[in-house]
Amino acid sequence: MRAFKAHLRGIPPYPYKKVEAPVKLDQNESPFDLPQALKAEALRRLALLPWNRYPEIHAEALRQRLAAQVGWPEEGIVLAPGSNLLILALAAAAEEVLDVSPSFPHYAHAARVTGTPYRALPLEAGEEGFALPLEALLSAFQGGVLFLPNPHAPTGALFPEEALWALAERAKEVGGLLVVDEAYREFSGTDLSLLGRGNPHVAFLRTFSKAFSLGGIRAGYLLAASEVAQVVREVLPPFVLPAHTGAILEVVLENPGYAEAVAAHVRAERERVYAELKGHPTWRPYRSYTNFLLVRTPDASEAYGHLLSQGILVRRQDRYPGLSGCIRVTIGLKEEMDAFLKAAFEVAYA
Ligand SMILES: *Cc1c(COP(=O)(O)O)cnc(C)c1O
Repeated sequence: MRAFKAHLRGIPPYPYKKVEAPVKLDQNESPFDLPQALKAEALRRLALLPWNRYPEIHAEALRQRLAAQVGWPEEGIVLAPGSNLLILALAAAAEEVLDVSPSFPHYAHAARVTGTPYRALPLEAGEEGFALPLEALLSAFQGGVLFLPNPHAPTGALFPEEALWALAERAKEVGGLLVVDEAYREFSGTDLSLLGRGNPHVAFLRTFSKAFSLGGIRAGYLLAASEVAQVVREVLPPFVLPAHTGAILEVVLENPGYAEAVAAHVRAERERVYAELKGHPTWRPYRSYTNFLLVRTPDASEAYGHLLSQGILVRRQDRYPGLSGCIRVTIGLKEEMDAFLKAAFEVAYA
């Protein structure tokens, strides 16, 4: 095959394999579907839309609403079917992608498929498990785009605000772009948007896939300086946000209250499961500010296999550097977490 660029030869597939199980705790999804009344209203609006017509080129009406709601200038907002697509566009535009390791695998994957130079610096050991290699990052950041999930995936850690301020300053100094991926912000209650006020070298990624319970709908957005947003818009195809996704988001943005209830449930269950797991003889949970817990076990394959035999699907994380023995469990319904805990403690006494 001589159709494609050489760097795409032998590219590894994105690390996800579908497995079926009654208790699905493997993809950091919300355990709750969108409230029925909102679904019904979204369907009603969908029926009224002209399906033969293209949607707005850059989702103007939605951006306007979002701008008012999040307090960010409309020209700096880009809506897309999933923040993963925004990551791909940013990686395609980037001179270089700088990452930490372990991290959200899509940053490396996006750099790889777009043929963008890529470097990752390993996280360090910190008081609560994982810490930013701040000094190394500050000197490695010479331009390009630095992706940083905060709260962090796949560890669940929340990085100190001072570190992010230092990276934001560094981004300005070298003319790079710090992209703070806030996919889990509703579960930590943090808002870092001040970092980006008056600093065009900071951008934020947000998603409707987690606390807003819309993983299946595919929607996320970028908050950035208008010149950054402009580049990302041009890298993406025009009319990229489908009319049906737009109609659903419109209803969600008019009724955002349910997401706070989702986040409150997740935070409470997360703290309960964390506290219980602290009493496990061999498993060690890491502090988390997300909707999942990273758990170090003596043997990830055994832990995963036993949980699955009990109908509970989690995600193995032991192939990531520094995460040997680790599994990741999404916070689900209370009954699901009870089933998880029961199975986890069975391993201990097997
Ligand atoms: C889940 C997640 C996202 C969400 O991506 P979408 O394409 O919006 O579903 C983005 N970043 C991180 C780090 C995530 O864990």
